[in-house]
Amino acid sequence: MTDLPSQWTHEPHKILRFRPGDKVTDIDTDSSPGYSDGKDGSDEVQAERNERFAGLQELLYANGKAGGHRSVLLVLQGMDTAGKGSIVKHVVGAANPMGIRYTSFGVPTEEERAHHYLWRIRNALPDAGDIGVFDRSHYEDVLVVRVHELVPPDVWEPRYDEINAFEKELVDSGTAIVKCAMFLSLEEQKRRLAERLDRPDRYWKYNPGDLDERKLWPAYQEAYQAVLDRTSTDYAPWFVIPCDKKWYSRLAINELLIEAIKGMGLSWPPPDFDVEVEKKRLAQA
Ligand code: ADP
Repeated sequence: MTDLPSQWTHEPHKILRFRPGDKVTDIDTDSSPGYSDGKDGSDEVQAERNERFAGLQELLYANGKAGGHRSVLLVLQGMDTAGKGSIVKHVVGAANPMGIRYTSFGVPTEEERAHHYLWRIRNALPDAGDIGVFDRSHYEDVLVVRVHELVPPDVWEPRYDEINAFEKELVDSGTAIVKCAMFLSLEEQKRRLAERLDRPDRYWKYNPGDLDERKLWPAYQEAYQAVLDRTSTDYAPWFVIPCDKKWYSRLAINELLIEAIKGMGLSWPPPDFDVEVEKKRLAQA
């Protein structure tokens, strides 16, 4: 039984799943796959689905408290302005912060550089019952690192297999991994960057280096293609999210999170006390 809103003609976790042979250069970043409606009305759908997600997050959290071992890891990968922050604010933000572990991964610090690249990742994993959110992730070590040749190919090349093994270990220990590759067009990126330059309350989001990265777009596309081809596995598939329409990317990722928790088949933990006895005691208290 699915409680998916009727505007969805296809289940997002099926239609957005990367398929072998899919090409990054063919992604229609302005599309809204599986969703029959437009922006009008999307706020209402979003509000209802935020609530649904928040309810499921509480269920996951309650199970963690009761000794359950399940958790979720949301991986947000995308170019600057793809809308990672917007997902954190408008989708993850609907949940209770108590059960959220958010980490953004920037240029490694000196301490991080002294360790294996997965060291900082392991340190940020969600505990049982929690939802971990990676704003950028271990995939930077085969994206920016590859594009900028920060290490030689014989160092980054084995990382794809290593990442697969790492994620297998996570999934086997009870973590559902939701990997979102967020793509927007160069034109839309330009529009979003211009907006940042036009608004004093957006300057903080602007980074002059983003313009240099734009020039490397084709190299990034190639690097993303390799990521999708080599690390989309049965146990941790990639979802390709068109992001020109922010309202769509939010709705889509919200559904992926809902599906991930629903798929765990959790129920509310039973009490470890006698409810009737406690009611009587309370009445007399
Ligand atoms: P954002 O640009 O997402 O707002 P930051 O300002 O913290 O966040 O910068 C993130 C930058 O860090 C990006 O340019 C990203 O490519 C870079 N980065 C992340 N991980 C690595 C890594 N492992 N090696 C080198 N650079 C990295």
